[in-house]
Amino acid sequence: MSGSNPIHVIGGGLAGSEAAWQIAEAGLPVVLHEMRPLRGTEAHRTEGLAELVCSNSFRSDDAELNAVGLLHQEMRRLGSLIMRAGDANQVPAGGALAVDRDGFSRAVTAALDAHPLVTVAREEIDGLPPAAWDSVIVATGPLTAPGLAEGIRGLTGAEALAFFDAIAPIVHRESIDMGVAWFQSRYDKAGPGGTGADYINCPLDREQYAAFVAALVAGETTAFKEWEASTPYFDGCLPIEVMAERGPETLRHGPMKPFGLTNPHNPTVKAYAIVQLRQDNALGTLYNMVGFQTKLRHAEQVRIFRTIPGLERAEFARLGGLHRNTYLDSPRLLDATLRLRAAPRLRFAGQITGCEGYVESAAVGLMAGRFAAAERQGRALAPLPPTTALGALIAHITGGHVSTEEVGGPRSFQPMNVNFGLFPPLDCAPKAPDGKRLRGTEKAQAKKRALTDRARADLSAWLGEPGLPAAAE
Ligand SMILES: Cc1cc2nc3c(=O)[nH]c(=O)nc-3n(C[C@H](O)[C@H](O)[C@H](O)COP(=O)(O)OP(=O)(O)OC[C@H]3O[C@@H](n4cnc5c(N)ncnc54)[C@H](O)[C@@H]3O)c2cc1C
Repeated sequence: MSGSNPIHVIGGGLAGSEAAWQIAEAGLPVVLHEMRPLRGTEAHRTEGLAELVCSNSFRSDDAELNAVGLLHQEMRRLGSLIMRAGDANQVPAGGALAVDRDGFSRAVTAALDAHPLVTVAREEIDGLPPAAWDSVIVATGPLTAPGLAEGIRGLTGAEALAFFDAIAPIVHRESIDMGVAWFQSRYDKAGPGGTGADYINCPLDREQYAAFVAALVAGETTAFKEWEASTPYFDGCLPIEVMAERGPETLRHGPMKPFGLTNPHNPTVKAYAIVQLRQDNALGTLYNMVGFQTKLRHAEQVRIFRTIPGLERAEFARLGGLHRNTYLDSPRLLDATLRLRAAPRLRFAGQITGCEGYVESAAVGLMAGRFAAAERQGRALAPLPPTTALGALIAHITGGHVSTEEVGGPRSFQPMNVNFGLFPPLDCAPKAPDGKRLRGTEKAQAKKRALTDRARADLSAWLGEPGLPAAAE
């Protein structure tokens, strides 16, 4: 144990910022190495810590019925800086927790800059970290700089798997025609900080929808480089034109679904499809096109998206784009506390471990920080119950996934959002108060409630705290 030797965290994104915070809050010195602004990435635009590179949403905040909402609640209970800054910079978004991205990043940067045990070093770690660093958390994300990526690849011997993600466009609010579009959240759901009328909706009739889908399919996309040609897409972030290629109705059942929305300009006619835009900044001047990540050429995006009713004169603050993702085959390479088996002084956190999403990345950073702090302080840290959202996520990354490599197939570990499928099943199916079997939606909701109640109780036991009701943070 070397109390004065700092723990090093490489990468000041969602995961690295949270990891550094947890280490400092445990009373240990930490150096956070961030290469921006000296070197940028294809997606980051600022020099702020914890920059959100695309959407501004932390997704559902429902801790009772949604796995990511439960993860929010667990992180708040463990003193998460990312959740604290997110809550403080919330913008209305129906049932979701969405944030003002600049205010959020500023809050995280200010908290870390002000912490007496945190040193923020603006430098790229080019290659493997120096041997003298005996405890390192690598949280360099999907766009890890090439020198470090090469160093890691040399250690693991594993080919880093690449796949595509794509970014959705952002529109200036004042350029949207509100004589055609209208404000409404799906099913008027208010959610935290919302009013029930948080999204801007643009309606399409059957002909407009058919023409739009045809234009997407025919649209010119950015050219593939040779190495990209065989790279698969991650299903959770498919470009809109790729979804359109899967069939004419695919978008109507995905990001353009018309359900739970009524056009006040024309209440008797049901829209055939609807494009939703979600507030992107606290001022409410920018809105992002929900689910419209794309690799169409910029000029094609402007041309095609302006055929959407209400967006005929849309001005775009940012157009969509394409990026590559790099992550480890973690179930094979990492131990239960996220250390690289081949070099245990290196721990990994965030999206590079194969979790997917801002919240999940920060959650894995939170645990990596706690694991590193406990190790440095010579404390045993009981494994997190796999029945909690945090535990289920870590278990998936460090071994929960069964690789087809084990049975002779190709590497199959895919980035994963937290979801109830990662949780161990309930011992017995929940029943109605009168003891009768539940069916349909009632059954599904009762099961989710039982899973999140169990998670809260198990996290309380792990923390040595009394229980927590669903609504509490
Ligand atoms: C273009 C894009 C769009 C995405 N869209 C979404 C979305 O809409 N919603 C969502 O939930 N998730 C999205 N993701 C996925 C993921 O949640 C984010 O990438 C998230 O930011 C990952 O957190 P992280 O901390 O692992 O990495 P990051 O937040 O990317 O942080 C990594 C940090 O490490 C720094 N760095 C890299 N290499 C070095 C080095 N060698 N030395 C020093 N510093 C280094 C980088 O500058 C960066 O600040 C997207 C990812 C990308 C790339």
